[in-house]
Amino acid sequence: MRTDHDNRRVAGYKTMALIRHFDKKAVNLQRTGRLGTYASCLGAEAIGTAAGLALTRDDYFVPYYRDHATLYLRGVPLHQILQYWGGDERGNAFPADSDARRDLPYCVPIATQLTQAAGIASAAKLRHEHAAVLATCGDGATSRGDFYETLNVAGVWQLPLVVLINNNQWAISVPRGLQTACASLADKAVAAGIPGVQVDGNDLDALLEVLDDALERARAGKGATLIEAISYRLSDHTTADDASRYRKASDLHRAWQNEPVRRLRDTLAEAGLWDAQRETDWQQQCERTVEEAIDTYLNLPPAPATDMLDYLYAELPAALRDQRSALAAVDQEVRHG
Ligand SMILES: [Mg+2]
Repeated sequence: MRTDHDNRRVAGYKTMALIRHFDKKAVNLQRTGRLGTYASCLGAEAIGTAAGLALTRDDYFVPYYRDHATLYLRGVPLHQILQYWGGDERGNAFPADSDARRDLPYCVPIATQLTQAAGIASAAKLRHEHAAVLATCGDGATSRGDFYETLNVAGVWQLPLVVLINNNQWAISVPRGLQTACASLADKAVAAGIPGVQVDGNDLDALLEVLDDALERARAGKGATLIEAISYRLSDHTTADDASRYRKASDLHRAWQNEPVRRLRDTLAEAGLWDAQRETDWQQQCERTVEEAIDTYLNLPPAPATDMLDYLYAELPAALRDQRSALAAVDQEVRHG
């Protein structure tokens, strides 16, 4: 008989397979000039999916730029994820009825989202919410001041915060070995007085166990946790990068032997939870779902030019008022031809 745990793993696999297909198509859209610079999540499917499965509706998610699987599981439609990467700010206005309704949008600057997550966690604590804040970052972000300041305040204020590092071994072209002299990124929790945990970032089951524990500790008022998920970036840094210029093909080949999607599929098949027919059916479903999302994205009406200011400022600075008026006039022209 299937347990809840089995169902969760199968749901996790289906999301991971869907996101892998979506990711490939997103890169193709960029290559054919129909998407802006895109950050692939190839190899990070287990991390993003585990985060999405472990979060509850009342939690807050503060993403960095590779968290497509998590945002999808929070209820952000795939076409809206493409909309954001296509340069349309409306992609960041997550559906008001979804779990993502209070989540922060994608963060491209490195580590600035972490201090914001600490602020949200501080507010949640003051309001006595039974909620955790999950913030993600890459290995490169752990060298930033924002990262250390966040962990410090999370420790001393006992914040309901979980910081999840996707250690994919590369910060653009900087390898993990040149990033820090620290033996592990999880060790950076020691100075903040919070638990630091290392986990296999290609293992959905292990990720779920660690994330469930850390988020429940946070919700229960027991404080923050740092998690280092060890994985490997199988893609270029973004579509604006060419990793073959600095990365050995043999290292990449080795990393593929341990990639998370096939690994989980094999584990589920061994347990009798998946088979070739289910795989064929699901791959077809993934293709249909992603094609529909692309179709919706490509047929969206163009964004108003004023969005570039309206989504940036709560109150428009006086110096930009004239520029906004000029942009509004352009929008008027576009609308009326
Ligand atoms: Mg990295």
